[in-house]
Amino acid sequence: MSDILKYFRQDRLPHIWCPGCGHGTVTGALVRAIARLKLDKNKVCVVSGIGCSSRAPGYLDFDTLHTAHGRALAFATGIKLARPDLKVIVMTGDGDCTAIGGNHFIHAARRNIDITTIVMNNNIYGMTSGQYSPMTPKGFLGTTAPYGNVERTFDLCKLAEAAGATYVARGTAYHAQMLVDLCEQALTHRGFSVVEALTQCPTYFGRKNKVGGAVELLEWIKDRTVNSKAAAVLPPEKTAGKLLIGELYKNPQPEFCDEYDKVIAQVQRKFDGFRGGVRGCEQNSD
Ligand code: SF4
Ligand code: MG
Repeated sequence: MSDILKYFRQDRLPHIWCPGCGHGTVTGALVRAIARLKLDKNKVCVVSGIGCSSRAPGYLDFDTLHTAHGRALAFATGIKLARPDLKVIVMTGDGDCTAIGGNHFIHAARRNIDITTIVMNNNIYGMTSGQYSPMTPKGFLGTTAPYGNVERTFDLCKLAEAAGATYVARGTAYHAQMLVDLCEQALTHRGFSVVEALTQCPTYFGRKNKVGGAVELLEWIKDRTVNSKAAAVLPPEKTAGKLLIGELYKNPQPEFCDEYDKVIAQVQRKFDGFRGGVRGCEQNSD
């Protein structure tokens, strides 16, 4: 515990999350991964948007930005381009990332910019009192879906992979130790890395859907997931309708800042050549 306390702004605690909320577990997993990697806290920048999950960076003693709804990745992209030496991490929720910020998400993935994005997916908008999100399962209830959500959900990991992310994993607040490992792998990957963390909101999702409190929700999460390695050898009926957890995709590709640096060097060479030519003309005219 003492190895992670230094990464917290202890004067900001206690946090505002409800009793039984899973966001603390996910935040703890990320911080434990940072501690394992012994990252210099002055070289880590954590960016968030709006929502319960986006409160997390306020408790963390890194350089942190709490930005506008859905825009964390836009801010993070600017930070990474200005300071490529920083480890830039985005903490976001299912609504913030896949609805309001959906376009930023797919383009950050497409660029393969070296940002680690932790998506806390509790299947609902928590902070704004339980509206359904693009990650609310079909048929489940929200304050804006009192008779059941009729929309299909994104498979966030498939979306990330299809858009160009080069590291994609899914973990859960139930499988807390695995979540630390996945965060660690994502942080060491160069390129756009995504960890979807299934987590529980007992206050809105659990209560509205009569799933129960934190313990029942964690059981519910456990029952709807299967380890990707186990799934590879299980009969299809055992994995039907379940979400895979673990490392789901890894495919290193050229990173955006590195590619941008090549363009800068190319322009610099051209500019230097132009200046050399101008100097040559000046000398010839003497
Ligand atoms: Fe957590 Fe839900 Fe409470 Fe927000 S409303 S702090 S997501 S339990
Ligand atoms: Mg949410």
